Amino acid sequence: MSREDLFKKICNLAGPAITVAKADDGWPGTANVKLTDGSIVRVAIHASLVGSHARKAYELRFQNPGSRKPVEAPAGALPILLGYWEKDNQAIFVATQGASRLGREARFSILFRDSVVKEALANGWAIYTSSNQEQIFAFQPSLLPTYVELLYRGIDSTVISSTSGEIATAAIAAGLLEDETEGGKERARRAVSQVIRNSAFGQAVVTAYQKKCALCGLGAGMVQGAHIYPASAPGSLDKVWNGIALCCNHHTAFDAFKIWIDPNSYAVKFHPDLVALAKSDPIVQRFLDTTFKAMTMPSDAAAKPRAAMLEGRYKYYEERYEWV
Ligand SMILES: [Zn+2]
Repeated sequence: MSREDLFKKICNLAGPAITVAKADDGWPGTANVKLTDGSIVRVAIHASLVGSHARKAYELRFQNPGSRKPVEAPAGALPILLGYWEKDNQAIFVATQGASRLGREARFSILFRDSVVKEALANGWAIYTSSNQEQIFAFQPSLLPTYVELLYRGIDSTVISSTSGEIATAAIAAGLLEDETEGGKERARRAVSQVIRNSAFGQAVVTAYQKKCALCGLGAGMVQGAHIYPASAPGSLDKVWNGIALCCNHHTAFDAFKIWIDPNSYAVKFHPDLVALAKSDPIVQRFLDTTFKAMTMPSDAAAKPRAAMLEGRYKYYEERYEWV
């Protein structure tokens, strides 16, 4: 099969969310990808077959063409290296971003373990980090838009790694592996897209707070972005000003309604149960002692939590905040 035909086959298998813009010779071919929120993203797919590697039985690889044609990114297109794997009528795509190889003409091989393909067959989605820290994704063809969304939203690699299990879980829960219809595939993509948007939100919030907990200053990669007005509530927005960066402990306490933040002064108040418990439990007392009297603000004023978000939260969970 020519590389051009392979490119067309890939776009066709990925479903109606992808339309071919210009197939060229498939290295790259350009296509438009419609995300679940309606945005259109142009991608430059560098198509290649996944082959086995002679040296190690468990290793697979894909290579660029020997014609010394470089990896390219036509104006406005995201470059993607996409390997096609097939066995017993089951296809899996193996993808990695092409940006780090732009302009590279020399022959290269991307090696990965066949276990990642097996995992994608079983779970719909899998990720493999190579020895040089490159992230290689394997997934069911209908999840190509999901992969494009990850790249498009610029989610960083550590967040992607920690999100990967959630993506597979959401895809399976939405019936990706059982429902072969286009409707079923679209439902799975929507479920997964929500996971990705949550990650993008968390990343933006954590970055706004210099990756430190707003209630105790802990950093060290142990900080998460929490929604103030909850994501599950009607009209909730994934905006930084509806978020707060919290360490796992403060996140848990916040989600359990044990911490109240004043919408005007941003002073912190603890649930009376927690205060009572601290009297007999020095570890709880230490938790209260290491919590700031008022939350710290992000350096960018535009990212500061809006009073309306805190007020909205307290109204939405009115009975849980009766202690205030
Ligand atoms: Zn904290």
